Amino acid sequence: PFVVTDNCTGCRFTDCVEVCPVSCFHGDDDRVYIDPVACIDCAACVPLCPVQAIYEDLDLPEEKEHWTEVNAEKAPTLPKIIKKQPLLEGAEERMEALGFSRDN
Ligand code: SF4
Repeated sequence: PFVVTDNCTGCRFTDCVEVCPVSCFHGDDDRVYIDPVACIDCAACVPLCPVQAIYEDLDLPEEKEHWTEVNAEKAPTLPKIIKKQPLLEGAEERMEALGFSRDN
């Protein structure tokens, strides 16, 4: 399955949630998580994340490997997010600080 990693925290651009064909995103106040049981590995969400937070679990850099477990544990406990959410305050600045822009 695909995994949402640290760059998502404090962002919530949530372009990803609307493209997912099986609605496997769940969210809290800060970020989203993918339910690995529901994810069909289509990769449709990956290019939509402006902060490149989404990886296939097999491709995770070593320092991000723990996010597989975090997504699996958190997603089932949280509500599904299927519509784009209001952007969190400071998200645009955060994206720029991480070296990303809406165009990459
Ligand atoms: Fe949904 Fe496909 Fe992304 Fe999995 S890889 S979360 S099924 S859009």
